[in-house]
Amino acid sequence: MSGLVFYYNNRLPCAAFRILDAAIKLNGEHRVISEFNEFAIDAYVLADSPTSRIVAIDFDNTITADVDFYLDLIDAYRCHNWEPIVCTLRDNDDENLVEIHDKLQDAGIRVYTTDGKKKRAFMLHEGISVGMWIDDYFPGITQFGTPILLRNGIEY
Ligand SMILES: [Mg+2]
Repeated sequence: MSGLVFYYNNRLPCAAFRILDAAIKLNGEHRVISEFNEFAIDAYVLADSPTSRIVAIDFDNTITADVDFYLDLIDAYRCHNWEPIVCTLRDNDDENLVEIHDKLQDAGIRVYTTDGKKKRAFMLHEGISVGMWIDDYFPGITQFGTPILLRNGIEY
């Protein structure tokens, strides 16, 4: 398997990113770039609420791109008192939930299914601010031109 490319371009400090960055360096195959290049990027890392301890990780083509890496990352976040959660555009079907929990070998992780709705608005409606998102498809998080995208260097 060739390494995954993570996009991160945020000028403010983000403690959640430091844990991801350490996991990427430990992994040795994956890397971080700060240039926006849709053709090169496997996962977008977007800083959001500076006070939230929640890291929202997408499932399809994010966790599934390297399950072992994300299992270690989930452990690392928990060790540092962050709460990793799964947030997916899938619907709330039992099969989806079983598949996700099976793959993560973990019934404890909270899984949010937005059924195609933009993830950020969906989570805020649930009363949950997210500290950082990891997702292969940033348009699933929020609309184009919103402050969170601009703040993370995505300007179109
Ligand atoms: Mg995805």
